Amino acid sequence: MPHIGFIGLGKMGHGMAGRYLEAGFTVAVWNRSKAKAEDLIARGARWTSSPAGAAIGADAVVSMVADDEASLRVWLGNDGAASGMKAGALAIECSTVSHAHALEMSQVLAKRALTYIDCPVTGLPHAAAAGKLTLLVGAEPADLEKARPYLVPLGSTIRHFGAVGTGTVFKLINNLLGAVQIASLAEGVAIAEQAGLDMNLVVEALSSGAVASPQVVRHSRRMVARDFSGATFTAALRHKDAAYAVRLAETLLPGVPVSRAALAAYDGAKAHAADGDEGQMIEIVSRPK
Ligand code: NAP
Repeated sequence: MPHIGFIGLGKMGHGMAGRYLEAGFTVAVWNRSKAKAEDLIARGARWTSSPAGAAIGADAVVSMVADDEASLRVWLGNDGAASGMKAGALAIECSTVSHAHALEMSQVLAKRALTYIDCPVTGLPHAAAAGKLTLLVGAEPADLEKARPYLVPLGSTIRHFGAVGTGTVFKLINNLLGAVQIASLAEGVAIAEQAGLDMNLVVEALSSGAVASPQVVRHSRRMVARDFSGATFTAALRHKDAAYAVRLAETLLPGVPVSRAALAAYDGAKAHAADGDEGQMIEIVSRPK
């Protein structure tokens, strides 16, 4: 069976690693904190004491960690995956990283005869565990074909945007739009509350009208109820994505005021509750000034 090394067993990575076990792959895992690996080990994964250990003998290594800093550490740290990988093996970056980081990693790993593709994903943790993610790929066509057997267990919708880095460009745009929508939704909900509207009616109307994007549908009810249980995407991660997106935008467009405003709103949300749900933005917007 194909042999995969999986690094990063957070809310998303844990379910994704489980998908490889369900598909019958031989799976070696590493996470910064071992506790998150225990049930995967019970299901047949092999625990390793470093990212390099997870990479030894693997045909492909998948990383699903928080950000650029974590990605750098797991691929290129002293005991990073790159030092354990065999020549020609695939390095599949599913983490949402910055565009510059994806390009740099591709170049550095190519010098080590490794093939890096960027493959950030959309979908919440339950979709990760069910193999229903959408994969946003940046890769040479031949590299994508080589990687395809390792992507299919994660999701059947594979969108190939072009060369390395392009999957990440789209992912950052996608999540920047999400930041804009959630930040403006919080303001809309707070205005409606201040105006004394029937908030059940507001939720129903928002969720069925012309602005009813999945973000609006998901977050309007939670914001009105101030119910942030089962947080799946944190304010810190949304802030990180918006910051990477604005940094990319600055290299391409002279001004992106709406995007900058959303990033500023998420500066506040991160300071308020970094590990809380991204929708807790409403708590800052509606706080008495
Ligand atoms: P998470 O639950 O916070 O997990 C983050 C993972 O990164 C954990 O395995 C964590 O290790 C690891 N990590 C953080 N800093 C590290 C470091 N310096 N060195 C080594 N490992 C480090 O986050 P998540 O929700 O799974 O998100 C993972 C990635 O998927 C992020 O890039 C996120 O933007 C993206 N994403 C998330 C969602 C979502 O709905 N949650 C959807 C699509 C994409 P520990 O367990 O030891 O802390």
